[in-house]
Amino acid sequence: MAKGKINVAVENIFPLIKRFLYSDHEIFLRELISNATDATLKLNHLASIGEFKGDLDDIKLEVKIDKEGKKLHIIDQGVGMTKEEVKKYINDIAFSGAEDFLEKYKDEKNDSGIIGHFGLGFYSSFMVSKEVEILTKSFKDEEAAHWVCDGSPEYSLKKSDKKERGTEIILHIDDDSLEFLEEGKINELLSKYNKFMPIPIKFGTKEVADPKHTPKTTKDKDGKETTEDQKMIAVDNIINNPNPAWIKQPSDLKDEDYKSFYRELYPMQFEEPLFNIHLNVDYPFNLTGILYFPKMKANMDVQKDKIQLYQNQVYVTDNVEGIVPEFLQMLRGVIDSPDIPLNVSRSYLQADGAVKKIASYITKKVGDKLNSLYKNDRKSFEEKWNDIKIVIEYGMLSEPKFFEKAQKFALYPTVNDAYFTFEELKDKIKPSQTDKDGNVVVLYATDKDAQHSFIEEAEAKGYEVLLLDSPIASHLIQKLEGENSELSDKKQPIKFVRVDADSIDKLISKDENQISKLSDDDQEKLKGIVEEVVPKEKYTVQLEALDSKSNPFIITQPEFMRRMKEMQQTGGGGMMGMGNFPEMYNLVVNTNSELMQKILKAKAKRSEYVNQALDLARLSQNLLQGKEMTEFIKRSYELLK
Ligand code: ADP
Ligand code: MG
Repeated sequence: MAKGKINVAVENIFPLIKRFLYSDHEIFLRELISNATDATLKLNHLASIGEFKGDLDDIKLEVKIDKEGKKLHIIDQGVGMTKEEVKKYINDIAFSGAEDFLEKYKDEKNDSGIIGHFGLGFYSSFMVSKEVEILTKSFKDEEAAHWVCDGSPEYSLKKSDKKERGTEIILHIDDDSLEFLEEGKINELLSKYNKFMPIPIKFGTKEVADPKHTPKTTKDKDGKETTEDQKMIAVDNIINNPNPAWIKQPSDLKDEDYKSFYRELYPMQFEEPLFNIHLNVDYPFNLTGILYFPKMKANMDVQKDKIQLYQNQVYVTDNVEGIVPEFLQMLRGVIDSPDIPLNVSRSYLQADGAVKKIASYITKKVGDKLNSLYKNDRKSFEEKWNDIKIVIEYGMLSEPKFFEKAQKFALYPTVNDAYFTFEELKDKIKPSQTDKDGNVVVLYATDKDAQHSFIEEAEAKGYEVLLLDSPIASHLIQKLEGENSELSDKKQPIKFVRVDADSIDKLISKDENQISKLSDDDQEKLKGIVEEVVPKEKYTVQLEALDSKSNPFIITQPEFMRRMKEMQQTGGGGMMGMGNFPEMYNLVVNTNSELMQKILKAKAKRSEYVNQALDLARLSQNLLQGKEMTEFIKRSYELLK
């Protein structure tokens, strides 16, 4: 029997390991299962090149709890290690790796998102154990070895009489880590980290119907049938699916396979995904995966069911920040790449060239997929638009490359559910549909109900009104106006204007101007009357000769101010520091409305008329609340008398 000292400079490294990885103790199991898997895959490889001739059928790993003995066993049938190899790989190399690791990251303890994942490997077992044993027999014809270490740098290494090929790791679980002897806890960890590992993992047994037994049905003398009980047998409980969909060829998968993999990935998710994107690249980096577009809903929990990152089928994290572009982090699915450096900090990741390439590859694939969906079946793409537009619009705002691509398939729906691309929209608008400065005006609404009367007014004049109701619409149209906004041949700039930004006749200039029925004197007088009643700090009174059938009072909100305010509220980067935009409205007074004659002539009820008309205008803009609402109702009843 040999006694030795592990070759380390750091005198007592184990307490350090424990402290360092405090929040992430559970990763020890993933590390040990990864090692066991590696050892098994190595054996598979040796067999494939003819260096190993034994039987590899039914090869698996096993995790076993010995509750009484307070031990956890991880057993594999892989290549195993000779005594010399244990010395070399466990004592010398592995430990120097751990030492390097601690040295490198001693100042970054808080960046624990990914540090601690991988890198410590075998020694992470000491986070939960007071003693660790290795029993191992190499596939080479050599004596088995038995290594024991109690967490001090001392270890013992002797021969063992283990007969079967492979390695068994025995953890003597520490008193402060007894949770790792609970079946439920181990089950949870196995399904979190090892659900898709390539070698079957056995954890206990389960009862299933014996396939060799068909229950007999017998009739008694009264003709009553009885069926005997189904015989049950215990079989290995295999916790993983070694062949997950993402490692298969897209041509081998049907739509249903993708859907069922989605359910496997997110068992608590009951809504089906809209479509998926299979990622598969091996140059200049390796990456496989499947991304799913879920239905995007207001208030959806984006913290739940996130994209999962794997490395060779081992779960790493569901924090894909820096790897997947931000706008695609709302998607679901898996990404598997051995080329993503895992034991480094986030800031390093973002600067890493390979990682940047991965992010742009993913962006490109998503763009291509959306484009082909649009091209192949526009109708169904239109039907999905509302559920996916947030992702696309966000991508257009944040990734210039994606903006370019999305110009082809991004849709602009009308209030009547017709869908146009930006190009089609430009064709659709008459070059004569301009404001007084000669900009081509695109009318839009953000809320069909709230802006109903304005939409109706615009449609009555034959204008098309878009419905742009996503929370980032104001940012998007701002960009569209700046970026690609000329009506192709005429070089007329395009301006988006919400239907309630002004009276429709002001928004889009007409050749023939309406003539006011009121004399200049009467107009002056009317303005005075209205201004006396209407609160000045909120409304600017603006007299206009509109159609006599248009409403007498109309409250409008100038496009620029409103849009800036909205952009500020939804995080408009550059808009910060411009101060807060006040809530300002215009009160358009239609001088051609009959009501104006009445107001001018009235003596006693004049202010009541003005107030009533103002409140009706407020009401139609959803601006009437509280005390003002109460007064409006009272006044309305009075007027009925
Ligand atoms: P890594 O897996 O990154 O190499 P580890 O600390 O996890 O680092 O393991 C160190 C080495 O110990 C492995 O590279 C391998 O040679 C050996 N080893 C660990 N576990 C096993 C096992 N179950 N079977 C065979 N060899 C093993
Ligand atoms: Mg390892």
